[in-house]
Amino acid sequence: MIIVFKAHTSPKQIEEVKKHIIDLGYQPRIIHGVERTVIGAVGDELSHRSLEALMTFSCIENVVPIQKRYKLVSRQFQQQDSVVKIGAFALGGGQFQVIAGPCAIESRAQLRQAMQDLTQAGVRIIRAGAYKPRTSPYDFQGLGEAGLRMLGELGKEFGVATVTEVVAVRDIEVVAGAVDMLQIGARNCQNYNLLEVVAGAGKPVLLKRGPATTIEEWLSSAEYLMAHGCKGVVLCERGIRTFERATRNTLDISAVVVAKNESHLPVVVDPSHAAGIKSLVVPLAKAGIAVGADGVMIEAHPDPVSALSDAAQQLVSSEFGQVMTELRPHVALAGKTMG
Ligand code: PEP
Ligand code: MN
Repeated sequence: MIIVFKAHTSPKQIEEVKKHIIDLGYQPRIIHGVERTVIGAVGDELSHRSLEALMTFSCIENVVPIQKRYKLVSRQFQQQDSVVKIGAFALGGGQFQVIAGPCAIESRAQLRQAMQDLTQAGVRIIRAGAYKPRTSPYDFQGLGEAGLRMLGELGKEFGVATVTEVVAVRDIEVVAGAVDMLQIGARNCQNYNLLEVVAGAGKPVLLKRGPATTIEEWLSSAEYLMAHGCKGVVLCERGIRTFERATRNTLDISAVVVAKNESHLPVVVDPSHAAGIKSLVVPLAKAGIAVGADGVMIEAHPDPVSALSDAAQQLVSSEFGQVMTELRPHVALAGKTMG
């Protein structure tokens, strides 16, 4: 941490702050400038003893942290890309995955049709929601445990890996027993208690970025997962809330690059929730691939017109072969292997 004094601070005040720094377990190194005095406090900033408390001294202008508040997810901690195993498939470290499926599981027939279409197109990881976090309490909330059972059973039948969202601590055990990967949705990105318990479920976690979380907050949430023993974390950029209304959210393409520079974790892009309109899904997926995403997550439904949630953004699952054909050269150009 760097502690910056206000101009005209007296030597007595500087001594007082110095003593406080030592009491907090840091070694102070004083630099006297022409106008200002600065102290470099040497010590482990990841301990709970934050020097930000020094802001309470009237003579302090600023306290600047040097170390990041996340460590286990950082590139400094691990230089090479993490590879996350999702069922029998790998994501990250050059292995690219297209994760696809309907927004919600609506019936066994609907999920079966989607899986048949998507696996035929070459998709290996199916994502479908059993518990849906909806803005309105009157909207379809998902089939819950019944849907989860369908996803587990059909996943085995089709030989795919499965992902679904978990919205509450009470559901974690049953969800972890049914699928290969747990999704933390955008609304729960900073639900720290949920993150801590999900981390211990023994399954990898797909962590969506919240609509209003900074990249640092998103990585700190990933740190919660890693610090509590998570088996593997995949970050998912799904668009943030901005002033723009032409799209449902704004896909923050630079976040993919920043997250990959800052962290060794794989990053996937969800163009469906970012755009909210089906015509933008494939172009945004290509943009994600171009900037280094390790995968994309796309919503596809056998009959989007009848979908009970996110109808406008879901692609037609029987047309997914064309999507894969369009994405493949982009994945190859990015130097990654599909599937
Ligand atoms: C979803 O993946 O279906 C979903 C609800 O997404 P998000 O959490 O990104 O809004
Ligand atoms: Mn959805």
